[in-house]
Amino acid sequence: MVKKTENRVEPAYITQIKSLHAALGIADDYGDTIGLPLQAEPAQLVAAGPDMFGRSQQMTPATLAAWHAMRDRAAGDGVSLLLVSAYRAAAYQADVIRRKLDSGRTLDDILRVNAAPGYSEHHTGRALDIATPDSPPLETVFDQTAAFAWLMKNADEFGFVLSYPEGSASAITYEPWHWCFSAARNEG
Ligand SMILES: [Zn+2]
Repeated sequence: MVKKTENRVEPAYITQIKSLHAALGIADDYGDTIGLPLQAEPAQLVAAGPDMFGRSQQMTPATLAAWHAMRDRAAGDGVSLLLVSAYRAAAYQADVIRRKLDSGRTLDDILRVNAAPGYSEHHTGRALDIATPDSPPLETVFDQTAAFAWLMKNADEFGFVLSYPEGSASAITYEPWHWCFSAARNEG
């Protein structure tokens, strides 16, 4: 039986997202246009320690367990997986977009690389951006690394899925570094 991993989207959350979108000038039909679901925030988050830049990160308990297991197995295979970022609140996503607007970039331009608040998989606490030493983080060249090859071969075993593969129908561009944990795959 497939377990649902998505949390129910609370009415108060929808109200918050609509308010964040209105403040940024994001169209009401953003979700429909871009073809992405609204991502609920998780009921529980746990500290996942510092990321590769020393920033504290959080993720869901099941994601943390799966991440540790996957990272340790990769290390055993001689592959170093580094955490770039995990959970991000919708309000934080709004701040990121606001800063880019303030720096003079257009909303359309920004929304090509940043999901609108409420629509980032990072809100779920199950999405991880992963890097490896000697390759710049959050760059497409990550797909040329041994770490990416290892993930493509093994991540599924730990419940991690490449959310935005090359040539997908999603409006989000190719992100070889972005992997999302699906409890349904790992605990089914
Ligand atoms: Zn990501």
